[in-house]
Parts: sequence; C-alpha cells; structure tokens
Amino acid sequence: MSTEISFASLSLAEPLLRAIEEEGYTVPTPIQAQAIPHVLAGSDLMAAAQTGTGKTAGFTLPILQRLITQPLTQQKSGTPRVLILTPTRELAAQVQESVRTYGKHARVSSFVMFGGVNINPQISALRKPLDVLVATPGRLLDHVQQRTLDLSAVEVFVLDEADRMLDMGFIRDIRKVLALLPKLRQNLLFSATFSEEIRTLARGVLNNPVEVSVSPRNTTAERVEQSVHMVPQAHKRDVLSHIIRESGWHQVLVFTRTKHGANRLAEKLVKDGLQAAAIHGNKSQAARTKALEGFKSGKLSVLVATDIAARGLDIDQLPQVVNFELPNMPEDYVHRIGRTGRAGAAGNALSLVDIDEMKYLKAIERLTRQTITQVPAPTGWTPSPAAARAIDDAPRAPRRPDPRARSGPRSAPKAGARSNTGSPARAGTRTEGRADSRPAARPTSRPTPRKVA
Ligand code: AMP
Repeated sequence: MSTEISFASLSLAEPLLRAIEEEGYTVPTPIQAQAIPHVLAGSDLMAAAQTGTGKTAGFTLPILQRLITQPLTQQKSGTPRVLILTPTRELAAQVQESVRTYGKHARVSSFVMFGGVNINPQISALRKPLDVLVATPGRLLDHVQQRTLDLSAVEVFVLDEADRMLDMGFIRDIRKVLALLPKLRQNLLFSATFSEEIRTLARGVLNNPVEVSVSPRNTTAERVEQSVHMVPQAHKRDVLSHIIRESGWHQVLVFTRTKHGANRLAEKLVKDGLQAAAIHGNKSQAARTKALEGFKSGKLSVLVATDIAARGLDIDQLPQVVNFELPNMPEDYVHRIGRTGRAGAAGNALSLVDIDEMKYLKAIERLTRQTITQVPAPTGWTPSPAAARAIDDAPRAPRRPDPRARSGPRSAPKAGARSNTGSPARAGTRTEGRADSRPAARPTSRPTPRKVA
C-alpha cells in the first residue's frame, strides 16, 4: 500500500493529529496506513510487523481515538479498558511512553507494570481509574491474584511481539490472561513472523481477524548495509574495540549470545577507554534504564545487549549494529538488524564471525535469501595477551591457516599512519574466498603497546 496518505485522512481526532505533528511525523508508515482503519472500524487484527516499522503508533493511535470518542461517565479503579501485553519490561515501558506521547493532548490515563520492582507502588497506582494498562504477563497475573487488578472491563486487548512471547515461554501465562478477559472485546496481535505456533495462538485469541503485513516474511530491512568480518572468537574483543575507536562510531548496539559475554565485553571496552555498558536480564531495572538513557542521550557510545534484553529497545535511527556473535536462531538476526535503518534512515550491521559460526551465517543467508558481503577484518590492532594465548592454545589441525590470508593482527601502524580499514562496515566491496579463511592466528610481530584513550 502506498504511504502517500496523510494522518488527517485516517480520520484521527484533533488532539492525536496535534501530538503526531509535534513528533514530527509527516506521513503514516505502511503498517499505520494499513492497520489504523481496521482498528478504528473495530475489527480484530493480525499484523506482521517488526519493531522499527512504526507498529506501536499503529495500534496506539486508534486505541486512543476510541478512548477519546467513547468516554465512560464512570470508571472503577483498577479496571483498565485497554490491556497491552508485551514480552519485556523495556518494551512495556516504551509502549506506555508512546501512549503518553500520542495521548498527551487527550484525557487518557495509562499505567505500566512489570516484575523486578516493588509491587506496592503499583498497588497504590491501581487504586485510581485507569484507561490503558501496559504489562508483562507475570506481574499482571500477580496483581490479579492479589485482587488489585480487575480485567473484566477490558474492551481492547493487544498482544505485542507475540512471537517473542512464545520464545520466552509465556504461552501458559497468555492463556491465563485470556481466561480473565471478557468474551466481547477487540483483539490485536502483532508479531514479526507468523510461524504455525503463532497461527495456532492467534486462532485462540482473534475473532475473524483482518490480516495485514508490512514486510515480506523473514526479510531483512532493505536500507541496512550488512557485512561480515571473519574473526576468531578469541580476537573479537580486540578487533571490535579497534574498529569502534578507528571508525569513531558514537552509537553502536552490540549483540552477544550470553549475559556473561555481554558483561565481559562491556568491561573490556571500558578498559579500552570507550563509554560502554551492558544491558541484560540480570541487571536491575534501574541499571537498565540508566544504561538505555545514557545510550540515547549520547553519554554512552556502546551498548552491549543480549537478544532478550534488546527486544523492544526504542532507539531512533540507530546507525550501527554489531553482531559480536551470530545468533543460532536466524530469525534473531533479522530482529537484531531491524534495530538499525529505522524510520527511513540508513543503517549498518556488521557481524564478527568465527569459522565455527559459519553454519549460523549460512542459515541466516538462507532465511533472508541474500549473501552477506564478507570484508577482510581490519589490521593494525594488537591482541591482548589473553587472546593471543587462547589462539596459541587452540587446536589448529585440521584447519591449517592459509598463509596468504592477511586479516589477522599486525604490529601497530607507525605513528600517524591510519589503519587501512577506514570504516570497515562501509567498505562494501565483495571479497570471495580469501576472507573466508581463518585469519592468521598469530601476530606477525611483537605486539606494540597500544594507546588507551
Ligand atoms: P516502532 O516500530 O513502533 O518501535 O516504531 C519505530 C520508530 O518509528 C519509533 O521511534 C517511532 O517514534 C517512529 N515512528 C513511528 N511512526 C512514525 C511516522 N509515521 N513517521 C516517522 N517516524 C515514526
């Protein structure tokens, strides 16, 4: 569908149009153009749209319209009219932020609740009338059990990032929530992908839904330039640190496979003089919020995250994403790089790939039906002693390094000389074969001490 239509032609109320204009949005995104008329008409909706498409406004705006045009004369406390369920606390907080932003000129009350924080302030907040509740499933059910929340008056139910909900094992909680909702209600389900599992879930939630889809299944954002450096696992930290410093990236989101890996990488980057922090499920909510705010405001230039923690991070126009390790689920790659190139801006996604991760790379290329450009890893970095030892100790046979492959560490460049890489992710030239080989395992000369900013 064309995006040439205007917000005004979607018949949105004046307070909403004013808020949209203040946000600087000029035209609806494709998911908004497709979803809003159906939601306004009261239909159930099944939408294939991933984060970054503008899906949050796609359901928030018509819901706010309903609240504005159909006010209740009397409302009981702790009985929301709209329930939005999200898989993570970050996403919940961001969805509520959107409700507040788009609803700032309307008299709409909203509240967000998630676990990991004290329940008592939430109980107090639920003593007031409430229009929109955004919640993660576990804490929501705690409140129902404590009878501080009543879901019997819900008119609109939204299941956001349903695929991730299932990945995170929320299916039983979702079923419990559904049993608490009134039979007559409007249902909206958003998911990046539609697996058979999602379709089965959708059948139990939605009533004769309209289906809309904004990106063909499992394709990566077109405006994201993707590239790969083949780098042994033990050298990745040194290589990444070098690339960030050389390229002057000011806002880069780095994905690791484990929480522990996220912590270790962030510590290493900080040691190397970079403003970095890790964000993952083991961190307190306060620490996560602080890291995210620091990253958004530019105080932190590197945020290291696991897949789950990164879900729902709403960061506008993120220029750079790095896969420190490739995910073993190829769909996660699509989610990760969906963080960049958002809302019309171009982005870069660089993956550091050990030869042992080739199977993941192939799976990603199969899923996205494209070959990701391999660019030789930069030279000019110095391996830290631990990394050098790890490589020395690694069993080399039967993988004999190709002596012609020159993507391993070298002595540091002479003073004043720049590394020959420039911005590696931007180097779009396709290299065949050579870059595929395991990089030279050892530095070719004695490591020179590296300057730390
Ligand atoms: P979402 O997919 O809901 O996470 O939204 C992605 C980003 O797009 C958010 O930062 C929104 O602020 C932004 N956005 C949403 N709708 C529009 C629009 N119509 N024009 C420009 N940016 C938008």
